[in-house]
Amino acid sequence: MRDFTLHTYELLLQAIAEAGYTFLTFEQYCELKQRTGNAQGLPERFVILRHDVDKRPLYAQRMAQLEATMGAKASYYFRIGKQSNAPECIRKIAALGHEIGYHYEDMSLCQGDHNKAYEHFCQALEYFRQFYPVRTCCMHGAPMSQFDSRALWEHYSYRDLQLIGEPYYDVDFTQVLYLTDTGRCWDGYRYSLRDKVPAQQQRWNEAGWSFHSTDEIINALKSNRLPQAIMFTTHPQRWTNSTGAWLNELITQNAKNLIKGMLSTRRNQQPQA
Ligand SMILES: [Zn+2]
Repeated sequence: MRDFTLHTYELLLQAIAEAGYTFLTFEQYCELKQRTGNAQGLPERFVILRHDVDKRPLYAQRMAQLEATMGAKASYYFRIGKQSNAPECIRKIAALGHEIGYHYEDMSLCQGDHNKAYEHFCQALEYFRQFYPVRTCCMHGAPMSQFDSRALWEHYSYRDLQLIGEPYYDVDFTQVLYLTDTGRCWDGYRYSLRDKVPAQQQRWNEAGWSFHSTDEIINALKSNRLPQAIMFTTHPQRWTNSTGAWLNELITQNAKNLIKGMLSTRRNQQPQA
Protein backbone atom coordinates (compact mmCIF):
# COMPACT_ATOMS: atom_id res chain seq x y z
CA MET A 1 0.00 0.00 0.00
CA ARG A 2 1.30 3.48 -0.88
CA ASP A 3 1.97 5.65 2.13
CA PHE A 4 1.00 9.33 2.42
CA THR A 5 -2.26 9.02 0.52
CA LEU A 6 -5.62 10.23 1.79
CA HIS A 7 -6.66 6.61 1.95
CA THR A 8 -3.81 5.81 4.34
CA TYR A 9 -4.71 8.88 6.36
CA GLU A 10 -8.26 7.61 6.66
CA LEU A 11 -6.97 4.27 7.99
CA LEU A 12 -4.82 6.16 10.51
CA LEU A 13 -7.83 8.18 11.74
CA GLN A 14 -9.86 5.00 12.02
CA ALA A 15 -7.16 3.29 14.09
CA ILE A 16 -6.92 6.34 16.38
CA ALA A 17 -10.68 6.39 16.94
CA GLU A 18 -10.87 2.63 17.48
CA ALA A 19 -8.08 2.82 20.05
CA GLY A 20 -10.36 5.07 22.11
CA TYR A 21 -8.66 8.44 21.70
CA THR A 22 -10.64 11.67 21.80
CA PHE A 23 -9.77 14.20 19.08
CA LEU A 24 -8.87 17.62 20.47
CA THR A 25 -7.92 20.71 18.53
CA PHE A 26 -4.80 22.42 19.81
CA GLU A 27 -7.00 25.27 21.02
CA GLN A 28 -9.13 22.85 23.07
CA TYR A 29 -6.00 21.28 24.54
CA CYS A 30 -4.66 24.69 25.62
CA GLU A 31 -7.99 25.77 27.00
CA LEU A 32 -8.52 22.60 29.04
CA LYS A 33 -4.97 22.73 30.35
CA GLN A 34 -5.28 26.41 31.23
CA ARG A 35 -8.68 26.11 32.90
CA THR A 36 -7.60 23.50 35.39
CA GLY A 37 -3.99 24.64 35.70
CA ASN A 38 -2.82 21.09 35.10
CA ALA A 39 -3.57 18.04 32.98
CA GLN A 40 -6.57 16.88 35.00
CA GLY A 41 -9.13 18.55 32.75
CA LEU A 42 -7.91 16.62 29.73
CA PRO A 43 -9.51 13.41 28.45
CA GLU A 44 -7.76 10.25 29.53
CA ARG A 45 -6.68 9.50 25.97
CA PHE A 46 -6.45 12.19 23.33
CA VAL A 47 -4.93 13.01 19.98
CA ILE A 48 -4.28 16.48 18.60
CA LEU A 49 -4.26 16.60 14.79
CA ARG A 50 -2.14 19.54 13.72
CA HIS A 51 -1.78 20.46 10.05
CA ASP A 52 0.86 22.84 8.78
CA VAL A 53 -0.45 24.06 5.44
CA ASP A 54 2.87 25.01 3.87
CA LYS A 55 1.40 24.91 0.35
CA ARG A 56 -1.44 23.43 -1.76
CA PRO A 57 -4.37 24.57 0.42
CA LEU A 58 -6.79 22.51 -1.66
CA TYR A 59 -5.16 19.36 -0.30
CA ALA A 60 -5.81 20.67 3.20
CA GLN A 61 -9.45 21.18 2.31
CA ARG A 62 -9.75 17.57 1.14
CA MET A 63 -8.16 16.36 4.33
CA ALA A 64 -10.52 18.54 6.38
CA GLN A 65 -13.52 17.08 4.57
CA LEU A 66 -12.36 13.54 5.25
CA GLU A 67 -11.85 14.32 8.95
CA ALA A 68 -15.29 15.89 9.18
CA THR A 69 -16.93 12.75 7.78
CA MET A 70 -15.16 10.80 10.51
CA GLY A 71 -16.13 13.19 13.28
CA ALA A 72 -12.57 14.38 13.91
CA LYS A 73 -11.70 18.02 14.54
CA ALA A 74 -8.22 19.29 13.71
CA SER A 75 -6.09 22.44 13.75
CA TYR A 76 -5.06 23.99 10.42
CA TYR A 77 -2.20 26.48 10.34
CA PHE A 78 -1.97 28.73 7.29
CA ARG A 79 0.93 30.84 6.09
CA ILE A 80 0.32 34.40 4.96
CA GLY A 81 1.90 33.86 1.50
CA LYS A 82 -0.33 32.93 -1.41
CA GLN A 83 1.11 29.37 -1.68
CA SER A 84 -0.93 28.66 1.47
CA ASN A 85 -3.33 31.52 2.07
CA ALA A 86 -6.44 30.69 0.01
CA PRO A 87 -9.49 32.42 1.52
CA GLU A 88 -12.02 30.01 0.00
CA CYS A 89 -10.23 26.96 1.42
CA ILE A 90 -9.80 28.58 4.83
CA ARG A 91 -13.49 29.47 4.94
CA LYS A 92 -14.54 25.94 4.01
CA ILE A 93 -12.24 24.32 6.55
CA ALA A 94 -13.51 26.61 9.32
CA ALA A 95 -17.11 25.85 8.30
CA LEU A 96 -16.40 22.14 8.77
CA GLY A 97 -15.73 22.88 12.43
CA HIS A 98 -11.93 22.81 12.44
CA GLU A 99 -9.63 25.28 14.14
CA ILE A 100 -7.72 27.85 12.05
CA GLY A 101 -4.39 29.24 13.23
CA TYR A 102 -1.51 31.31 11.92
CA HIS A 103 1.57 29.49 10.61
CA TYR A 104 4.02 32.32 11.16
CA GLU A 105 7.44 33.02 9.70
CA ASP A 106 7.60 36.77 10.24
CA MET A 107 11.23 36.80 11.35
CA SER A 108 12.38 35.33 8.07
CA LEU A 109 9.97 37.50 6.05
CA CYS A 110 11.36 40.61 7.81
CA GLN A 111 15.03 39.53 7.70
CA GLY A 112 15.34 39.20 11.44
CA ASP A 113 14.09 42.71 12.31
CA HIS A 114 11.95 41.81 15.32
CA ASN A 115 10.02 45.10 15.47
CA LYS A 116 8.98 44.84 11.85
CA ALA A 117 8.31 41.14 12.29
CA TYR A 118 5.99 41.78 15.25
CA GLU A 119 4.03 44.37 13.32
CA HIS A 120 3.80 41.96 10.40
CA PHE A 121 2.66 39.19 12.77
CA CYS A 122 -0.11 41.41 14.21
CA GLN A 123 -1.39 42.32 10.75
CA ALA A 124 -1.42 38.69 9.61
CA LEU A 125 -3.20 37.61 12.78
CA GLU A 126 -5.83 40.29 12.20
CA TYR A 127 -6.24 39.02 8.65
CA PHE A 128 -6.78 35.39 9.71
CA ARG A 129 -9.21 36.45 12.40
CA GLN A 130 -11.73 37.41 9.71
CA PHE A 131 -12.14 33.65 9.07
CA TYR A 132 -11.94 32.30 12.60
CA PRO A 133 -11.35 33.75 16.09
CA VAL A 134 -7.71 32.63 15.99
CA ARG A 135 -6.33 31.73 19.42
CA THR A 136 -3.23 29.71 18.57
CA CYS A 137 -0.27 30.11 16.28
CA CYS A 138 2.50 27.81 15.18
CA MET A 139 5.93 28.47 13.74
CA HIS A 140 6.76 27.56 10.13
CA GLY A 141 10.13 25.82 10.33
CA ALA A 142 11.54 27.50 7.16
CA PRO A 143 14.57 25.18 6.97
CA MET A 144 16.24 27.26 4.26
CA SER A 145 16.06 30.46 6.31
CA GLN A 146 18.72 31.46 8.82
CA PHE A 147 16.02 33.03 11.02
CA ASP A 148 14.11 31.06 13.60
CA SER A 149 10.71 32.69 13.84
CA ARG A 150 10.40 31.83 17.52
CA ALA A 151 13.07 34.47 18.19
CA LEU A 152 10.19 36.97 18.02
CA TRP A 153 9.10 35.78 21.46
CA GLU A 154 12.39 36.86 23.01
CA HIS A 155 11.08 40.42 22.57
CA TYR A 156 7.31 40.10 22.60
CA SER A 157 4.60 37.88 24.04
CA TYR A 158 1.91 36.27 21.91
CA ARG A 159 -0.28 36.17 25.00
CA ASP A 160 -0.66 39.95 24.68
CA LEU A 161 -2.45 39.22 21.40
CA GLN A 162 -5.04 36.92 23.03
CA LEU A 163 -3.24 33.84 21.78
CA ILE A 164 -3.34 30.97 24.25
CA GLY A 165 -0.95 28.57 22.59
CA GLU A 166 2.06 27.89 20.40
CA PRO A 167 2.87 24.16 20.15
CA TYR A 168 6.61 24.64 20.64
CA TYR A 169 5.98 26.32 24.01
CA ASP A 170 2.62 25.11 25.25
CA VAL A 171 2.60 21.37 24.76
CA ASP A 172 3.78 19.37 27.74
CA PHE A 173 6.03 16.99 25.82
CA THR A 174 6.77 15.01 28.95
CA GLN A 175 3.14 13.86 28.62
CA VAL A 176 2.41 14.21 24.92
CA LEU A 177 4.22 12.18 22.24
CA TYR A 178 5.11 14.20 19.14
CA LEU A 179 4.90 12.54 15.73
CA THR A 180 5.49 14.59 12.58
CA ASP A 181 5.58 13.71 8.88
CA THR A 182 8.38 16.22 8.29
CA GLY A 183 10.72 14.66 5.73
CA ARG A 184 7.85 12.54 4.41
CA CYS A 185 8.28 9.80 6.96
CA TRP A 186 7.55 9.66 10.69
CA ASP A 187 11.17 9.47 11.84
CA GLY A 188 12.45 12.53 10.00
CA TYR A 189 13.68 14.24 13.19
CA ARG A 190 17.14 13.35 11.88
CA TYR A 191 16.63 15.68 8.91
CA SER A 192 14.51 18.32 10.54
CA LEU A 193 16.21 21.51 11.63
CA ARG A 194 13.43 23.00 13.76
CA ASP A 195 10.38 20.76 13.75
CA LYS A 196 11.45 18.36 16.48
CA VAL A 197 11.56 17.88 20.26
CA PRO A 198 15.20 17.01 21.00
CA ALA A 199 14.69 16.94 24.79
CA GLN A 200 12.32 13.96 24.54
CA GLN A 201 13.33 12.12 21.36
CA GLN A 202 15.72 9.66 22.97
CA ARG A 203 13.17 8.67 25.62
CA TRP A 204 10.54 8.15 22.89
CA ASN A 205 12.95 6.05 20.83
CA GLU A 206 13.72 3.90 23.85
CA ALA A 207 10.00 3.41 24.47
CA GLY A 208 9.64 2.12 20.90
CA TRP A 209 7.72 5.19 19.74
CA SER A 210 9.77 5.92 16.65
CA PHE A 211 8.09 4.93 13.38
CA HIS A 212 8.99 5.19 9.73
CA SER A 213 5.72 4.46 7.95
CA THR A 214 2.09 5.24 8.72
CA ASP A 215 1.43 1.50 8.65
CA GLU A 216 3.76 1.01 11.61
CA ILE A 217 1.81 3.62 13.59
CA ILE A 218 -1.50 1.98 12.68
CA ASN A 219 -0.18 -1.39 13.89
CA ALA A 220 1.05 0.18 17.14
CA LEU A 221 -2.39 1.72 17.68
CA LYS A 222 -4.09 -1.59 17.03
CA SER A 223 -1.92 -3.38 19.55
CA ASN A 224 -2.28 -0.53 22.05
CA ARG A 225 1.45 0.30 22.19
CA LEU A 226 1.12 4.08 22.04
CA PRO A 227 0.93 6.49 25.00
CA GLN A 228 -2.23 8.24 26.17
CA ALA A 229 -1.59 11.59 24.52
CA ILE A 230 -0.20 12.26 21.05
CA MET A 231 0.19 15.27 18.76
CA PHE A 232 0.33 14.38 15.07
CA THR A 233 1.69 17.04 12.75
CA THR A 234 1.01 16.50 9.07
CA HIS A 235 1.63 18.57 5.96
CA PRO A 236 -1.51 18.07 3.86
CA GLN A 237 0.38 18.67 0.57
CA ARG A 238 1.98 15.23 0.95
CA TRP A 239 -1.27 13.33 1.42
CA THR A 240 -2.81 12.73 -1.96
CA ASN A 241 -4.41 9.86 -3.86
CA SER A 242 -3.27 11.32 -7.21
CA THR A 243 -0.27 9.36 -8.51
CA GLY A 244 1.42 12.30 -10.30
CA ALA A 245 1.28 14.64 -7.30
CA TRP A 246 2.27 11.81 -4.98
CA LEU A 247 5.40 10.99 -7.07
CA ASN A 248 6.31 14.66 -7.29
CA GLU A 249 6.17 15.01 -3.49
CA LEU A 250 8.21 11.79 -3.07
CA ILE A 251 11.00 12.98 -5.37
CA THR A 252 11.24 16.59 -4.15
CA GLN A 253 11.13 15.51 -0.50
CA ASN A 254 13.97 13.02 -0.99
CA ALA A 255 16.08 15.81 -2.48
CA LYS A 256 15.14 18.17 0.36
CA ASN A 257 16.05 15.60 3.00
CA LEU A 258 19.49 15.32 1.46
CA ILE A 259 20.02 19.10 1.69
CA LYS A 260 18.50 19.37 5.19
CA GLY A 261 20.72 16.49 6.32
CA MET A 262 23.77 18.36 5.08
CA LEU A 263 22.66 21.66 6.67
CA SER A 264 21.93 19.92 9.94
CA THR A 265 25.35 18.23 10.02
CA ARG A 266 27.06 21.52 9.18
CA ARG A 267 25.19 23.37 11.97
CA ASN A 268 25.95 20.65 14.48
CA GLN A 269 29.63 20.93 13.61
CA GLN A 270 29.70 24.67 14.27
CA PRO A 271 31.14 25.47 17.68
CA GLN A 272 28.47 26.56 20.16
CA ALA A 273 28.81 30.08 21.51
ZN1 LIG B 1 5.47 24.90 7.87
